[in-house]
Amino acid sequence: MLNIFFPKLCRGCHKELNSSELEICAVCRHELPIACFHSSGSDEMLQLFYGRVPVVNATSLLYFKKNGLTQKFVHALKYKKAKKIGEIFGAWLGEELKNIDSYKDIDAVIPVPLHKKKLRDRGFNQVEGFGREIAKALGASYIDDVLVKITPTKSQVFKEKISRIFSQEEVFAIQNTHIITGKHLLVVDDIITSGATLESCSVNLLKAENVRLSFATMAITK
Ligand SMILES: [Zn+2]
Repeated sequence: MLNIFFPKLCRGCHKELNSSELEICAVCRHELPIACFHSSGSDEMLQLFYGRVPVVNATSLLYFKKNGLTQKFVHALKYKKAKKIGEIFGAWLGEELKNIDSYKDIDAVIPVPLHKKKLRDRGFNQVEGFGREIAKALGASYIDDVLVKITPTKSQVFKEKISRIFSQEEVFAIQNTHIITGKHLLVVDDIITSGATLESCSVNLLKAENVRLSFATMAITK
């Protein structure tokens, strides 16, 4: 209730926002490092998956650098519960993707899930707002009950130790497979670095029949 007495500050530069700005001021919005491979035609993100999993499209809204501007917004979203930031990034990217032919046929948006315990601790999946806004812009559904993050069993831990690709933290499973059969899925995450998380998700999603996969993230590590 006290909130109304305090000016709202930009999550990037901490300057006061004007009444038409939400979480991000116009200056920061202009300065955010744009990746947008869907419009530049760069295969920088797609390349990460060559020889690993088949991917139709892969794009990211922004570049992410340690201590850079993008990090400030992603951290506010993840650790200060500034959920609006995910929605803003999702609406921004969705607005662009809906005009691009190779993204128009996406049937469903699937968020990289959090482990149940993490979800309980944080209270929300930081990718949800981003994914829902993209789904809305594309006229696609948002499906968050197919892919789940699980606690690895002993044998999985052993397998992952020798596999190099997956870290122990990144164990996913699939359920309700029939929901995604035959669909073009857009898997969304906050930041992509090596692509290991999205690869691990893909291996599971591809267990469903006739599934095609594309990826979109808020940011890609530079
Ligand atoms: Zn700012």
